[in-house]
Amino acid sequence: MKLLAGKNVIITGASRGIGKGIAEIFADHGANVAFTYSSSEKPALELEKALKGKGVTAKAYQSDAASFEQADALVAKVLEDFGGIDVLINNAGITKDNLLMRMTEADFDSVIETNLKSVFNMTKAVQRTFLKQRSGSIINMSSVVGVKGNAGQTNYAASKAGMIGFTKSVALELGSRNIRCNAIAPGFIETEMTNKLDEKTVQGWRDAIPLKRGGSPEDIANACLFFASDLSLYVTGQVLNVDGGMLT
Ligand code: NAD
Repeated sequence: MKLLAGKNVIITGASRGIGKGIAEIFADHGANVAFTYSSSEKPALELEKALKGKGVTAKAYQSDAASFEQADALVAKVLEDFGGIDVLINNAGITKDNLLMRMTEADFDSVIETNLKSVFNMTKAVQRTFLKQRSGSIINMSSVVGVKGNAGQTNYAASKAGMIGFTKSVALELGSRNIRCNAIAPGFIETEMTNKLDEKTVQGWRDAIPLKRGGSPEDIANACLFFASDLSLYVTGQVLNVDGGMLT
């Protein structure tokens, strides 16, 4: 059963990792996928081609989610290219870890702008469309670190906790217009973001997880599928931990 047949979806930061996993599973479920990647990466044309091979419309856009102007222009372009938007997934994110003593103002600001301000930019940009059609689902990729904090990640934790407050506020503000907004808090997911860690640290994370493994992009994509589809029509303002039991 295809849960997203004919739905148009925007996913930020989907050239690799979790975003790419979401794009693939959403296309398998019949969604047309517009996705972005950062300026530091080469065009994600292979993924665009692979998604089209699944029989849906797909397009990669280079767009900096941290820029309000670029987010606004992206949404206008997607509306022109796809004819509508039903689902927004704010997934783009970065880490710039350091102990507070050594963290620079620039590293704090860039993580907040890429991870949190981007959510404001993109949500504001799709809002008009969602209000007009009286429907829409917004999914924000937070983190267990936004729920419980983490030493060495004050910038990242603040950005991910901010996303949770933003999610609940949007749910309250736009619920009467049938616009839903939920967040996912992934635990330790094995992607290029976490591949930067040494093997000993990675094994330590795996051992501490009740399900005894790191998560995969598909684990997160399946949770997104629930929030994007009609399976969750009566669910808004929620944060779902997808963490193998880490926060239990
Ligand atoms: P990743 O580094 O593998 O991929 C990040 C994606 O974001 C890339 O496609 C990149 O092009 C894009 N991106 C970065 N900056 C951007 C910008 N300014 N504008 C547009 N796109 C930009 O990361 P990932 O592990 O797939 O993580 C995806 C999301 O999930 C992030 O928000 C991350 O914080 C969150 N998350 C990841 C984990 C994990 O363990 N991997 C855990 C919790 C939350």
